[in-house]
Amino acid sequence: MLLGIDDTDSPSGMCTTYLGALLARRLIKMHMTVREARLLRLNPNVIYKTRGNAAICLDVSGDIDRVFETACELVFELAHFSDENTNPGVVVVENSPGPEFYWKAVRDFCTIKEAVTVLEGAGARYKGFKNGRGLIGATAAVCSVLPDRTFEYLTYRCGNAFGTARFVDRKSLFEAEASTFPHTWDTVDVENNTVVCVPHTPDPVLFGIRGESPSWVALARMQVNSEPSGVEQIFVTNQGTDAHLIEGDTGALTEGRSYRVSCTVCSHAITGRGGHVSIDLDGGGRGIRCMAYEPTKGFRNVLRALWPGDRVSVTGSYKGGSINLEKICILSLAEARTIRPPLCPTCNARMTSAGYEKGYKCRNCGARQKDPEVTLHDRTIRPGWYEVPPVARRHLAKPLCRGP
Ligand code: ATP
Repeated sequence: MLLGIDDTDSPSGMCTTYLGALLARRLIKMHMTVREARLLRLNPNVIYKTRGNAAICLDVSGDIDRVFETACELVFELAHFSDENTNPGVVVVENSPGPEFYWKAVRDFCTIKEAVTVLEGAGARYKGFKNGRGLIGATAAVCSVLPDRTFEYLTYRCGNAFGTARFVDRKSLFEAEASTFPHTWDTVDVENNTVVCVPHTPDPVLFGIRGESPSWVALARMQVNSEPSGVEQIFVTNQGTDAHLIEGDTGALTEGRSYRVSCTVCSHAITGRGGHVSIDLDGGGRGIRCMAYEPTKGFRNVLRALWPGDRVSVTGSYKGGSINLEKICILSLAEARTIRPPLCPTCNARMTSAGYEKGYKCRNCGARQKDPEVTLHDRTIRPGWYEVPPVARRHLAKPLCRGP
């Protein structure tokens, strides 16, 4: 059977992945088999999310009623019910209801009613606590399919350490990344000299190692020195797979979805207040703005190096009327040239236009010249893929070390 849970945490603590890891252990103690623990990231643009919009699915064999009861009991024990945005959902189905609802939850928005329709159709046991919104994520979890998959080794803190400062040895994290990249990624951000895999929030996670297989994440984990951990769990996930992206048409982008679109650059990038960079693109006659916010650090220089006429393919979420960039592929570079009136050969003053197709005229001495001054600029960037650094990467975005 498949067991789905979601929406158990709050900004002040808890984490649905932790609850999933504890639940797996409790079921095993009850002599049931847990064949797989899945961590699913859903639409990153959902406003109700606490942090990364995660939901959990456990593949279990045992007595279905006991599994359902045990899951509900643990949620009742541990979920942060006092937070108004914590509305847990628990779902158990004998067989997956099919992937349609999962894809909608990853790429779009769903309602509780839609989730309940799927659950009723599948003959599921389900319980929505409080307003029941967690049923959406829990249903998506049991409907999930992983045509592409990665793994995350999550270590959790001992209970008495929750809420205190974490100790994870920084040097050991850089060494773990150096010896296992590109088979693991996003443990640290080498370029920005920053640790990425240790959260700063008061949840139970100590650190998480992401990678391509259970053995690679375990190898990296073994190299990390830290405070003692409590529970440890390897999840199979849709993280780093681009599962959220839809092939887009720039004329029909919908707020809150994430796209891959091909466009032509039609302006130079502008750096606004706070260091956020924007650039205007054209997709088949329709304008579209792309943003690289300050936390994307050096990635902003890629936008600054683009010229009108460059062909690009971009990925990211469409929010507030612009695409928040995750990756950009420069397909072809235009000739970068600036055209302006020539200098007067006699008095060296800048000439002005003499009228449409009449060339240029010097206002000082009246000299005339037919052609403008054309300057060709060296391009500082090459065609190919560029991505935001690990510090700014979204859970679902596929890192380039896994391929474009
Ligand atoms: P947690 O660790 O508890 O899972 P989180 O950051 O993953 O924290 P949640 O607290 O689960 O976020 O909040 C997300 C809420 O949004 C859940 O109730 C979930 O059911 C719901 N949700 C997830 N995806 C969608 C979607 N595509 N459309 C509508 N609601 C969604």
